[in-house]
Amino acid sequence: MVRQHLIRNFSIISHIDHGKSTLADRFLEATGTIPKEKLHPQYLDRNPIERERGITIKLTPVRMNYTLNATPLVLNLIDTPGHVDFSYEVERALSCVEGAVLLVDGASGIQAQTVSHMRKAREVKLPVIPVVNKIDLPHTDPRKSANAMVDTFGFSEDEILFVSAKTGENVENLLLAIVERVPKPSGNVNAELKALIFDSQYDQFKGVICFIRVFDGKISKGDTIRLIGSGVTAKNVHVGVFLPDLEERDSLSAGEIGFVQTGLKEIEKARVGDTMTDAQHPLIVPIPGYREVKPMVFASFFPREDNNFSKLSSALAKLRLSDAAFTFEQEHSDGLGSGFRVGCLGLLHLDVLKERLQREYGLFLIVSTPTVRYLVEMTKGEKLFVSKPQSLPEPHLIKKVEEPYVLGWIIVPKEFLGGILTLLTQKRGNVSRREYEENQVFIEVALPFSEIITDFYDRLKNISSGFASFDYEFSGFHEVDVVRLDMFVSGKRVDALSQIVIAERVRSLGRSLSQRLKEVIARQQFKVAIQARVGAKVIARETIPAFRKDVTAKLYGGDRTRKDKLLEKQKRGKARLSMVGSVAIPQEAFFLTEQRRGESQ
Ligand code: GDP
Ligand code: MG
Repeated sequence: MVRQHLIRNFSIISHIDHGKSTLADRFLEATGTIPKEKLHPQYLDRNPIERERGITIKLTPVRMNYTLNATPLVLNLIDTPGHVDFSYEVERALSCVEGAVLLVDGASGIQAQTVSHMRKAREVKLPVIPVVNKIDLPHTDPRKSANAMVDTFGFSEDEILFVSAKTGENVENLLLAIVERVPKPSGNVNAELKALIFDSQYDQFKGVICFIRVFDGKISKGDTIRLIGSGVTAKNVHVGVFLPDLEERDSLSAGEIGFVQTGLKEIEKARVGDTMTDAQHPLIVPIPGYREVKPMVFASFFPREDNNFSKLSSALAKLRLSDAAFTFEQEHSDGLGSGFRVGCLGLLHLDVLKERLQREYGLFLIVSTPTVRYLVEMTKGEKLFVSKPQSLPEPHLIKKVEEPYVLGWIIVPKEFLGGILTLLTQKRGNVSRREYEENQVFIEVALPFSEIITDFYDRLKNISSGFASFDYEFSGFHEVDVVRLDMFVSGKRVDALSQIVIAERVRSLGRSLSQRLKEVIARQQFKVAIQARVGAKVIARETIPAFRKDVTAKLYGGDRTRKDKLLEKQKRGKARLSMVGSVAIPQEAFFLTEQRRGESQ
């Protein structure tokens, strides 16, 4: 058992790329947790996608021993991701610690995610240690960033530290500040066990492994525990700590962060946010858990190759064991066959999922245009969420439709302000605050979320030469005038191309989709009509004329196998065709609606 006054639990938060994972490396090094020769950069980014993209997508806990003036201390650090899709990870990390290090890159200063993560820390009243990083970079003035931290967040000048996570300069002083300024945990070791599950992992052999913060009491190897929310009990558990690899210990007590290997086979039973207690002396009242995360972006996944549906199904089920934040539901498309409607937290999350399916399971997918979730109120008063265009009820049954909104923050150098404001207007944004800070402008804006999942990031970055940063949080639903746009080919609806669109944009979108469909569908033996419809009304049409001459006609009555071979060859040369009625539609048609995706990190 570690005495509580010797424990410090803290997290590192910052905008993406401001150096959290690199600072964690220096801590691992300074405390001797990982020997220097083994310490590859961003050591805590352990997942291959994290390593390749250079981003953190999961929170990662690590325990470090640190001896100060002959006193052996335990420092538990939780590294966090910066990207907005994974901000839920940050919230969870912050509820398990007593303090946070707020890192700001001295060269780029406060950015949008600095603001949003700082808000989160303030919400839970966490003491924050302000730190300016990257002081080794030439031509930067760290004092500027420090001043901005004073002005924006109200820090006092003398509490700000200046470090280089790269060279290690001043990192020892930061460790000292953490020991001094982060309060020690204050639980009751003799009370009933009360621990919060802040993450979980699934191991094929060991079952569910819960990552926990113990607030009161003690948990030992061999104990029987109960999870209050799900009511499930687990016998004979193993416990341990993160070094950062899992290492077993005899017990964990109040104030500590560690893991419990439950042996449970269903991850659903060990929900993140649930309270773990002792089965013999259970607590009745759980710790206020986490808000439930709801997927915000939906898209359909179809396997590109035939016969891969069951493979996709089992792959999604397996991935769900390590990522409880996405949902999936079987669906069927006339053109693309069986697939799944997948719900994610954002575009990056969706992209990471798609990549994992490809990389870990060899599944190549067609992913439909992402959409948001609409709240539909029916004339009869019933309310339902619609996250699939095909499920939008007929207009006469709908009283109103509401769409999700976000409150967003943009930080951008002054010279780009004009362009950014124009973009925000086009995207139906409503600017509620605008503040000037030295050379930067801070903009607070209410935006429909559907506008963000199209080309918003790309345009923001283009307009600002890459300097604008953006972050947001969900703020509620607001009424919107939308309709369902359907595409018909030869009188058949191509269901995978249906979209929910803003009523006043439907004509131009219908026209451009019809034209693009015409371009990709090959001429047939017969005339093909392409129509864009809203309900029964045709709002745009195109016609693909028939072949004048049938190219294979001369083979008729001749050598049958030769014709088959020819067709076979064509088939192999092209991607798979999907039959909609009697018209073969190339798969690329299903990417027509795909807007350029948001920033990838
Ligand atoms: P995170 O997204 O906040 O975890 O940031 P990372 O730790 O992944 O760092 C982002 C980039 O900044 C990496 O290329 C690091 O090498 C670099 N970096 C981090 N800290 C420093 C620093 O103190 N000085 C310099 N020059 N580069 C740094
Ligand atoms: Mg990182």
